[in-house]
Amino acid sequence: MSKTRTTQQWQELDSKNHLHPFTDFDGYIKKPGRIINRAEHIYIYDTDGTQFLDAMSGLWCCSLGYSQPEIAEAVQRQFQELPYYNNFFQCSNAPAVELADRLVQMTPEQFTHVFFTNSGSEANDTNIRLVRRYWDLKNQPEKRIILSRTNGYHGSTIAAASLGGFSFVHKQFETLPYVDHIGDPNWYCNGGELSAEEFGLQAARELEKRIDELGEENIAAFIAEPIQGAGGVIVPPDSYWPEVSRILKERDILFISDEVICGFARTGKMFGCETYGTEPDLMTFAKAVTNGFQPLGGVMVSDKVASVITSQGGEFGHGFTYSGHPIACAAALATLDIIERENIVDRVASDVSPYLQSKWMALADHPIVGHVRGLGMLGSIELVRNKATKERLAPEQSAGGVCRELCIDNGLVMRAVGDSMIISPQLIMNHSEIDTMLEKVIRALDQTAEHYSV
Ligand SMILES: *Cc1c(COP(=O)(O)O)cnc(C)c1O
Repeated sequence: MSKTRTTQQWQELDSKNHLHPFTDFDGYIKKPGRIINRAEHIYIYDTDGTQFLDAMSGLWCCSLGYSQPEIAEAVQRQFQELPYYNNFFQCSNAPAVELADRLVQMTPEQFTHVFFTNSGSEANDTNIRLVRRYWDLKNQPEKRIILSRTNGYHGSTIAAASLGGFSFVHKQFETLPYVDHIGDPNWYCNGGELSAEEFGLQAARELEKRIDELGEENIAAFIAEPIQGAGGVIVPPDSYWPEVSRILKERDILFISDEVICGFARTGKMFGCETYGTEPDLMTFAKAVTNGFQPLGGVMVSDKVASVITSQGGEFGHGFTYSGHPIACAAALATLDIIERENIVDRVASDVSPYLQSKWMALADHPIVGHVRGLGMLGSIELVRNKATKERLAPEQSAGGVCRELCIDNGLVMRAVGDSMIISPQLIMNHSEIDTMLEKVIRALDQTAEHYSV
């Protein structure tokens, strides 16, 4: 299909008709995008045939890379058998049944049920509905407030964007009145003179303080990503999650772990809650569950919540036309087959992640790197002019944006969040591919330093 137009024709048609997500529309008309028309393994290719090493696994989702014929075959088989049927009104379909069973088996033992959606955003909307239903049935309808964190990302529907903690997004619409935010555990940016451990405790205790201020009897749930992804790969200090867990154990509020990024081996265990030892009552998943090849998300529901919402009559007035879509579920089953057969969790934990992290942490020696964070197959670096004062490269400008463009010039997709550069590479990388990625990162950092005359 792509052969029928030149790159310029694609770009002109695209900027004429297509409003892109999280994009400055005016900027996009002035500087058109790259049209990606082919992908293989860890590489993507644009219509000019230029190759890029995709250090973001798409949008955090293609964890097994782009070449997984088994998933495509499963999808094709399902197309032949049953391309669509819904799960409303006393119906189900085989892939949805199989996937629900599979997810319940592979997630931590408290999870007994799943609700399917098409995306992480819809799954977090679903969380709000499930939480409300739970407290209503428990005769505590005044428990309405959902606590979340600054720089969290939970999706882009009205509800999910309200849960998220991006002020520039909140300024563009009216957020839900019953969502309240506490600070995030970004020690480098917010820690001041505190040690990482001290700051981690302080950030965790903000949750306790907020619960007391608003009244435990008014709080329904706390939602958080194990590691905040889109907010800049914020790996919390080691003291953070144990202290949050203590607080959650003492308080009667539900905990939602948003594992849309951290799920399915990204952190070196199957789920981020296992990495950090937390015990969520609800868990959001999406993205890597189908390796990004089909839209699918959902909520894992613990026995604590499921036993309440399934034991009393009355219809749950919520669901999507494509909840439990047979083709998306078939893609997920094939993806989980690969993750399990190839021992992806063990390979990440024992080999790929230690190798990546040893190389990644060494970036701390680079002249414009003020701080390095990383865990599992996630990493971020903070760009600075002065390591001691944390002075930015260009206070009036996004140096991250400049660095990202220099990455592109070097055939590398690395994402910028403000002046943090972040990666979420494929879990299936080998050592020499990690070396190649790091060489490109270092070259782009050198050129960024040169650009800002450091
Ligand atoms: C991407 C993401 C979402 C939203 O998922 P969509 O499928 O884009 O709706 C929610 N939570 C987290 C942590 C995410 O990274």
